[in-house]
Amino acid sequence: MKFSRLFIPTTKETPSDAALPSHQFLIRAGFINQQGSGLYNFLPLGKIVLDKIRSIVKEELDNAGCNEVQLSFVTPIGLWDKSGRADTMGKEMLRIQDRHENDFVLSPTNEEAMVELVKNRVKSYKELPVNLYQINTKFRDEARPRYGLLRGREFLMKDGYSFHANKEDMNREFNLMEETYKKIFTRLGLDFRVVDADSGAIGGTGSKEFHVLANSGEDTILVCEDCEYGANIETIFEDEKEVVSLNELSYEQLQEKDVEHKCSCGGKLSFKKGIEVGHIFQLGDKYSKALEAIFQDENGKPKAFEMATFGIGVSRLVASVIEQNHDENGCIWTKATTPYMVDVIVSNAKKENELNAGTKIYEDLKQIGISSILDDRKEKKHTYGFKMGDFKLIGFPYAIIVGKKLQDGLVEIIDRRTLEAQDVKLEDVVSKLKELIS
Ligand SMILES: [Zn+2]
Repeated sequence: MKFSRLFIPTTKETPSDAALPSHQFLIRAGFINQQGSGLYNFLPLGKIVLDKIRSIVKEELDNAGCNEVQLSFVTPIGLWDKSGRADTMGKEMLRIQDRHENDFVLSPTNEEAMVELVKNRVKSYKELPVNLYQINTKFRDEARPRYGLLRGREFLMKDGYSFHANKEDMNREFNLMEETYKKIFTRLGLDFRVVDADSGAIGGTGSKEFHVLANSGEDTILVCEDCEYGANIETIFEDEKEVVSLNELSYEQLQEKDVEHKCSCGGKLSFKKGIEVGHIFQLGDKYSKALEAIFQDENGKPKAFEMATFGIGVSRLVASVIEQNHDENGCIWTKATTPYMVDVIVSNAKKENELNAGTKIYEDLKQIGISSILDDRKEKKHTYGFKMGDFKLIGFPYAIIVGKKLQDGLVEIIDRRTLEAQDVKLEDVVSKLKELIS
């Protein structure tokens, strides 16, 4: 892609309500723009990132045997009356009427619709298990939408629902999804922790959250430095909640607190801030009973499905990558999430030799499957400094600078994370880059 052909409306203005780096940088770098309170448009760069995350989520789920579906976003209120959630969801669920005065809701989640889909279609234990998921728009009418994509009203979510003949099989699927989620977040290049989200009294395995570690995270989690143990602070230390005042303390304040409990492995426990990006939950037969979703078990007896549900905040992940990976200049994308791997910056695109050399590098990178963008912009304002500013703000992992050093047969490679530059011979630049990326 050529920079001159791509709609990337970068700006120096920071939105007045944007307190978090992801909110500021995603808007300033032209990834998203705000349409209304808690409503965001994805611009070309943002859409590429969103699709990349979406495809990694889909690949891993499909590998684990899940089936993708797409349910209608608008659902009849009758479904929610049957489960009792028409009353309990409160104002977070946006209700609308059609021209015939029938009541509908904009789906905030889809347990009811998914149970309706499976009910009467799966009749025997022989057809189980079934794991259906969708990656679809959700709407929750948050009282105070804030933090950009992290707490918007409309968002893209992967929601999955599995149906089983018995609890043992549900547990097996729950563990499989935990492993699958770990693969997804690892592939995305994120530092994350899996934490117990129920109190120990219930058993501790019924609900788990996946947190991306970031100083700005809304949740406080307790993690062991030596083993995989992690827990949401809301679920533990009932008597000691005041010790950490729950989620009120900042990351810096938490570092000063001593943790009295020690992990059962003997390792040191410490507090971290996390952004919840995934949640897996054992539902049991709560919804299947309420919605009379019954199959025939192996003894020929009618039985309600055992269910589990699995969520990933897909659009929230876009912001989470940046909360974990940024500096004072802007975004730093991970290799799996970046819209393009390399920004080939032609220092002065009016100089034919620079533009030709840059174009050749760009074509050669394309040949070997490394995605790149050629900064070929040539208006007066498009100075080298301007282009470097955009590179740092947008956050592609690498830049290749084609400029004055070309007369000595050299170009520069810059690593966005460290901002370190190295001179490379023009003829070696593509192989050098290939080496860096692998
Ligand atoms: Zn431990």
